[in-house]
Amino acid sequence: METNVPYKTYLTEDEIPKQWYNVRADMETAHAPILNPGTGEPMSVADLEPVFCTELAKQELNTTDRFIDIPDEVRSFYKMYRPSPLIRATYLEKALDTPAHIYYKYEGNNTSGSHKLNSAIAQAYYAKQQGLTSLTTETGAGQWGTALSMACCYFGLDLKVYMVKVSCEQKPYRKAVMETYGAQVIPSPSDTTQVGKKMLAEFPDNTGSLGTAISEAVEVAVTSENTRYVLGSVLNQVLIHQSIIGLEAKAALDKLEVTPDIVIGCAGGGSNLGGLMAPFMAERLAGRQAPYFIAVEPASCPSMTRGRFAYDFCDTGQVTPLAKMYTLGNGFIPSANHAGGLRYHGMSPILSQLYHDGFLDEARAVEQSAVFEAAELFAKSEGTLPAPESAHAIRAAIDEALACKESGEKKTILFGLTGNGYFDLGAYQQYNEGTMTDYVPTDEDLERGFATIPTVPGA
Ligand SMILES: *Cc1c(COP(=O)(O)O)cnc(C)c1O
Repeated sequence: METNVPYKTYLTEDEIPKQWYNVRADMETAHAPILNPGTGEPMSVADLEPVFCTELAKQELNTTDRFIDIPDEVRSFYKMYRPSPLIRATYLEKALDTPAHIYYKYEGNNTSGSHKLNSAIAQAYYAKQQGLTSLTTETGAGQWGTALSMACCYFGLDLKVYMVKVSCEQKPYRKAVMETYGAQVIPSPSDTTQVGKKMLAEFPDNTGSLGTAISEAVEVAVTSENTRYVLGSVLNQVLIHQSIIGLEAKAALDKLEVTPDIVIGCAGGGSNLGGLMAPFMAERLAGRQAPYFIAVEPASCPSMTRGRFAYDFCDTGQVTPLAKMYTLGNGFIPSANHAGGLRYHGMSPILSQLYHDGFLDEARAVEQSAVFEAAELFAKSEGTLPAPESAHAIRAAIDEALACKESGEKKTILFGLTGNGYFDLGAYQQYNEGTMTDYVPTDEDLERGFATIPTVPGA
């Protein structure tokens, strides 16, 4: 082990970026617009305003500004938990006996336990600026709801969180944290919305899905005064905010004079990977040398590796606009025995387009037990108990490092450690007791989901 390499590299507070990076400004491909499902016409800021905060709607449609100023209030909130450390995984390297160098950017050092706070605080800020009083959202595993609870509390906004029912049951303490910050948490599907009532009437035992929870949160936002809906992943605006991860990571690596050969992120809706790879993707898009990019997803919810690149609704209730993305179909409901988050049916349109165009090099699906095996090795060697979502990236990083051991190559690997696993102890317990099972949908299962993708004339 080299002794002259620091274990942790921190930027100073002053070096926290002052602008986010908008990768879409550098993508030459035509950006498939989001469409009004009724008319098939592209949506404008005015069309989005009933649902989204105005400034966020502008960011959503912004394809021209490469950099967007981070408001001072947001930047000063960032100082509570940023810059986040860039860590050289020396202990993991030793455990693997690999010549590869492994670095990770750790985003779990805040109460919400994940990178989601980076976007939550920005979204709450713009809502407050606009004079709104309330926000609604959905949460799956709970990290987003927690992050947004903290952000709304900071700016004095009311918050209703629709939480996927199965997650609510698996993670009761998440609810306690959100309520501590003043949020109202409602298990979804619920009887508080039309769409929820309809889902319950059709499938009374429905354990919920992110898509359904989104429909409920959107319905409440558009039918309540001074209220808008916010989303913690998938959207272009979220990838803009999450670019802070990659900008900081690259600045720290530049200090060390290190250039990664491989950049790896887990992919649920695509926001952490989009953020981590952003400044490196800028290099690729400019035709300069860039790392090999890998997106890692669960084999149980394989939107990139087995999904279709098509216009689809962002939610199960089919109330949202249509976005062109890799999707399993808005009606796809992942198996309830899947513990590790990353359950969304679609993928960020930005990541989808970059993957389709060959700039994002590879999508890889991994099974749950292999993910927890990687999580265990990581916890034992590096100390940090990773979120199961993050462990998808760890799995791929370990596999790449083991490939280096085979070939003798000394590659530099960077991955995103998006969060800690303190609220996922039920899943760790299952893994430790040997009761965790792997579930991979059959082609027939996927066909049922694909059948719910709408036909869009001319798209
Ligand atoms: C939400 C979440 C993810 C997945 O979301 P992305 O938008 O794909 O980044 C990954 N890790 C953690 C810890 C999360 O909370």
